[in-house]
Amino acid sequence: MTDAARPADANDRTVPDRPPVRSYLNGLACSMCGHEVEVDRLQNTCPSCNRVLTYRYDLDALREALPREALRARDATLWRYREVLPVRETRHIVSLGEGMTPLLPALGLGDLTGFRQLYVKEEGLNPTGSFKARGISVAVSRALELGATALGIPTAGNAGGALAAYAARAGLPCYVLMPEDTPLANKLECVLYGAHLYLVKGLINDCGRIVREGAAAGRWFDVSTLREPGRAEGKKTMGYEIAEQLGWELPDAIIYPTGGGTGIVGMWKAFDEMERLGWIGSRRPKMISVQAEGCAPIVQAFDAGERHAKLFQNAHTVASGLRVPVAIGDYLMLDAIRASGGTAITVRDDEFVAAMKVFARAEGISPAPEGAATMVALQKLRDSGFLKTDDRVVLFNTGAAWKYSELLDPGDPSTLDPADPHVLSRIEG
Ligand SMILES: *Cc1c(COP(=O)(O)O)cnc(C)c1O
Repeated sequence: MTDAARPADANDRTVPDRPPVRSYLNGLACSMCGHEVEVDRLQNTCPSCNRVLTYRYDLDALREALPREALRARDATLWRYREVLPVRETRHIVSLGEGMTPLLPALGLGDLTGFRQLYVKEEGLNPTGSFKARGISVAVSRALELGATALGIPTAGNAGGALAAYAARAGLPCYVLMPEDTPLANKLECVLYGAHLYLVKGLINDCGRIVREGAAAGRWFDVSTLREPGRAEGKKTMGYEIAEQLGWELPDAIIYPTGGGTGIVGMWKAFDEMERLGWIGSRRPKMISVQAEGCAPIVQAFDAGERHAKLFQNAHTVASGLRVPVAIGDYLMLDAIRASGGTAITVRDDEFVAAMKVFARAEGISPAPEGAATMVALQKLRDSGFLKTDDRVVLFNTGAAWKYSELLDPGDPSTLDPADPHVLSRIEG
């Protein structure tokens, strides 16, 4: 490459800038106490009350500048919503093509459950096989923009794999701390992408403490969910996409498998922003949180009428994405669920593991156990009368089944007496 052809910045691995497209970012403030912090600096939680910081945008100006129809011509990634994402310069965007996943009509599951307008938001198609790619793409881009030189993350599994990939693409070292019994695929992908992987005796909250200590000691920037404000912004694009994909009309209900809660919190924020932009009206879907029976702090707090959840003791579930016994954004989730007229419900591990096959065979979609849990919840809420079969419902398949190979049944090989001697055996699951 000649010098003239070399990009001005070594980090420039992105598409050429389109000058009128820019972020309308104009603030960062605490969602609990309102305390304002400097927006263009690496920040974690509120310095005053230690709760969740949230990005703000000049939505009045954007309302004039960006009619929703202008989105149609844009790339099919979450960066199509660039104006409401917190990255100022295009050259800082670290993208692997995340977002704008299909919203698939679920006719097979619809037949099985009686729902006539059922959809699956297929998040397993994101880079690294889960929707964690969304939040991590935005968080890594923003961290790069604000000068971070290393990244650290506590993870229940998929966030670590996603960070490993995006950090590799950004050229930043990253440190991933995960419970020792995290699914194998998550460990393998971290190693594959060159992350520094540490296995921890304990759960994600124990990993979180170690990452906070390392951040305080200057070893890395902490990109924990909702302790870093960019991840929720990446996840909120799921709300923008659902609206856009349904012709700017929101569904009656969204069923979402909930761990740290970034998705519920993010989508709820997206709906508010879109209304202020004049893109949607005031109608909202019922936000329905699904947790595993063995780890259900949000369901417990919802049922008890509390705004904060207690640490869930002896948390256990094979749906690693739901193995989050305590969440800093509990009040934001619970506020959104209640304001939407939604609910929170538990599903047992044996129910959703069995549902993975049902889901896969009905739709041709590879469902994470967390995704399959939404189908079980759908049936329970139909049976209780909370949902009606003519409701328009979106299920979130948050990841791909192959990331949980331990749970997949390889089937019983049985000897065939094949006409063709090259056929060794027959397998059926
Ligand atoms: C992280 C994760 C969840 C939980 O998502 P939150 O937005 O943090 O609540 C659900 N499913 C999968 C597959 C995950 O990786």
